Amino acid sequence: MLTPKLQDAFNAQINAEFWSAYLYLSMATHFDNEGLNGIANWFKIQFKEEQAHAEIFMNYVNSRGGRVLLAPIAGVDTTWKSVLDAFEATLSHEQKVTALINNLYAEAEAAKDYASRSRLDWFINEQVEEEETARSLVDRLKLIGDDKLALYMLDQELAARVYNVPSPLANNA
Ligand code: MG
Repeated sequence: MLTPKLQDAFNAQINAEFWSAYLYLSMATHFDNEGLNGIANWFKIQFKEEQAHAEIFMNYVNSRGGRVLLAPIAGVDTTWKSVLDAFEATLSHEQKVTALINNLYAEAEAAKDYASRSRLDWFINEQVEEEETARSLVDRLKLIGDDKLALYMLDQELAARVYNVPSPLANNA
């Protein structure tokens, strides 16, 4: 069984993952409106990945005999002044999520809950990738600057991103 404190912490993380999903869905719809369909596609896939993260945590809490409690999802921004602005917000958001996962890991350690620690290892590695991807897009957008053709080419490139379930842990099977 999860300790009540850890169960609360996992439920808070489930909410944070759904909030992330909501944020990226908001970015997707914003860039769809702006005619940047490839950028919108990238954020739409990000939205799906965040939902999968929430599902992994939900499956895990259930598998430990815990209780998943879905709380209201707070509002998100609905507009960004540039693509760079949105990716900078993405990077800083992912850095915050990394800190949340690290805190959760510390809680699992304090409770000597080795199963939780082990499950969180997947998320620790996932956050390295999330931050690296966002950072690299921020760097590229800084290089692009005001070059509309380069932005168009990046939009084409990101249109090719396809969704893959990030882990079989997201399935209910
Ligand atoms: Mg996530």
